[in-house]
Amino acid sequence: MNNALFQFAKPANEAVKEYRPGSPERSALEKELEKQSKEVIEIPIIIGGKEVRTGDMGEVVMPHNHKHVVAKYHKVGEKEVNMAIEAALNAKKEWENTPWVERASILARIGQLIATKYRARVNASCMLGQSKNAFQAEIDSACEAIDFFRFNNYYASNLYAEQPSSSPDQLNRTEYRPLEGFVMAVTPFNFTSIASNLNMTPVLMGNTTIWKPSTTALLSNYHLMQIFMEAGLPAGVINFLPGKGSLIGNVALSNPNLAGIHFTGSTATFQGLWKGVGANISNYKSYPRLVGETGGKDFIFAHSSANPREVATAIVRGAFEYQGQKCSAASRAYIPASLWNEIKQHVGEMLSTIKMGDVNDFSNFINAVIDEASFDNCKGYIDRAKASLEAEVVFGGNCDKSVGYFVEPTVILTTNPKYESMEQEIFGPIITIFVYDDKNYVETLELCDSTSPYALTGAIFSYDLQALKIANEKLRYSAGNFYINDKPTGAVVGCQPFGGSRASGTNDKAGGLWNLIRWTNPRSIKETFVPATEYGYPFLAK
Ligand code: NAD
Repeated sequence: MNNALFQFAKPANEAVKEYRPGSPERSALEKELEKQSKEVIEIPIIIGGKEVRTGDMGEVVMPHNHKHVVAKYHKVGEKEVNMAIEAALNAKKEWENTPWVERASILARIGQLIATKYRARVNASCMLGQSKNAFQAEIDSACEAIDFFRFNNYYASNLYAEQPSSSPDQLNRTEYRPLEGFVMAVTPFNFTSIASNLNMTPVLMGNTTIWKPSTTALLSNYHLMQIFMEAGLPAGVINFLPGKGSLIGNVALSNPNLAGIHFTGSTATFQGLWKGVGANISNYKSYPRLVGETGGKDFIFAHSSANPREVATAIVRGAFEYQGQKCSAASRAYIPASLWNEIKQHVGEMLSTIKMGDVNDFSNFINAVIDEASFDNCKGYIDRAKASLEAEVVFGGNCDKSVGYFVEPTVILTTNPKYESMEQEIFGPIITIFVYDDKNYVETLELCDSTSPYALTGAIFSYDLQALKIANEKLRYSAGNFYINDKPTGAVVGCQPFGGSRASGTNDKAGGLWNLIRWTNPRSIKETFVPATEYGYPFLAK
């Protein structure tokens, strides 16, 4: 039907809406927030395009108002996971034979539906279910999700166009087959766009998935699944499995048709999945592709030539937006003694104006952390810092879970550069600061590089060329996304392809060509026009 050689043009990034009072996007969002706050929706399992109900129920609550239930969901058991694998394998035959432009057009339609008809719906569900303010929801569940759809189609065009050389006597081609089997997408709570994308990159390349959504992101993830189906994604291409991670993981990992895992979440969970694959390795039909983006201990490093106000702003935005629950969030900072007093003063001034509370109140910059376990974890770090001889809480430090899981933006100052909160990922609104002697710049860069097992994001602030050059070298492997005079969060699809190495993941760069390649199994095809009829070569002649 479609016999053209088609190329998706390089798209522009989706423009971020501002949600100023009185704007049309603000009133649409407020209406949707009100509507969703009044409902308790029932979330089924979706297998082969059909809704499945087990009656084994769980609840989705608002983290900022945890007595308020927004959804009840059916949990999968072993039987449903096996049914989903079967459905994914059955759907794959047709999906992989669908011309890639037609697959891509469904994905482009999903992106456009989110950009228009369903923008307010996905943003409101992300705000209520994951406790994001309007701006944080907009840059995630609208803009980044849309960008992933559009940019991946463009990158896929480039990938399919990448072909080997031929000559007058032979035609050489590369066929980009999908992987053999099914892909398991295991998605985190903190980014709705990632939940979408971990399914959609394999799907674009002709694979089918079983999807394990995070139970604390189910509200937005279910709305996504409905949009996928409305856009025409065929039954069984993505199978939606709310439920317990370990149960779903164990069933999937023991299936010989597991072709790959597309994961974002904590380092511990990914390492557990990797070990599970290792334990089953002789049972698989092929080597499963393991693509995982995991934790971080992201840093801001200031040189004495930095501008103190700029560093302070990066600390406040980088550490506290979305309550520090971004894998890229700044959670340790190295500040030269000569700048500390001024930076501290700016940070203090900014924090004194920041409000924390419900997402429905648009004047709140900070909302709640995701659940009680996260709240208790954050409070533990704060309480230990208050009691420590090596640390002091200079700003924030109050926690209250009576209504929602609220942790005040907290700045810890430590005299020990290896203090626990300089090394470990907390995933909350807490940053720890180590003040170094200006003359120890190089040694402190080395300390920054060797302090944590992670290497996801990091930022250097300096206007001294030589200092920047040294930082670039010393921190070469400390971050997969490295920022100069900017906060370490806010990577944009198509501009800063995202991912880190060491304990932070396989660095397959979400939103780039490199990630798509992982979901293909290329076949080289050589066709000879006039085959040889003699076996000998000239060198054999006497
Ligand atoms: P998590 O590891 O707790 O959960 C991630 C997903 O894994 C969830 O869907 C969970 O249900 C599932 N899961 C848990 N155990 C499982 C098992 N045994 N088998 C199969 N699935 C299982 O992570 P989270 O709390 O949702 O997300 C926060 C973490 O994600 C942080 O560590 C953060 O740094 C990381 N993260 C990284 C990136 C990145 O790009 N590097 C992006 C976002 C989040």
